[in-house]
Amino acid sequence: QFITFEGTEGVGKSTQLANAADTLRGLGVDVVVTREPGGTPMAESIRELLLAPRNESVDETTELLLMFAARAQHLNTRILPALEQGQWVLCDRFTDATFAYQGGGRGVSSERIAMLENLVQGDVRPDHVILLDAPVETGMKRARSRGDLDRFEQEAVSFFQRIRDTYLDRAQAAPGRYSVVDASASLEQVTASIRDLVCKFHSD
Ligand code: C5P
Repeated sequence: QFITFEGTEGVGKSTQLANAADTLRGLGVDVVVTREPGGTPMAESIRELLLAPRNESVDETTELLLMFAARAQHLNTRILPALEQGQWVLCDRFTDATFAYQGGGRGVSSERIAMLENLVQGDVRPDHVILLDAPVETGMKRARSRGDLDRFEQEAVSFFQRIRDTYLDRAQAAPGRYSVVDASASLEQVTASIRDLVCKFHSD
């Protein structure tokens, strides 16, 4: 199974992804944990290009193509081979993040993104998307307290509000594939919700 974790900054994606991996390993599942943009040496180099703060404005098409360039490499050399071997792949962000950040955030049309999604992925889509949702301010406080802000984290609150709204719209449009978890709840509660979810995916 291919499970992705999504959400705005500071919602605890990485922590919950690690918890989900522990739960699944406890159930005897062979798990691969990875992230986007990144997940292979070349895709991680593209990530560095994308995230570094810059003294030039970055063209939105450039950003979009780099995201999908990294994704093609990651999908074809790491994710698909793992899935073919029967491993479960847990990925920190995937194409939903592109619809949310480059689409909702930057204003790229969803048709353009969907075109690249089809080109790069064919009909490959995550089996489950876990959306960790919290008010933007809550997460941004956590992200800021972590220090060094990347190029995206320096954006205004309204940028992240549009991203959150896009994620929620996508989840609402396909409720079977998305699980929305309230990430403003206590760490124990969020952890328990994630554990219940992955146990359910495992038993289905
Ligand atoms: O998940 P993480 O916070 O590590 O993501 C790294 C950065 O890349 C974030 O600031 C995120 O906002 C940005 N990003 C993006 N578009 C994507 C994926 C990630 O802008 N499609």
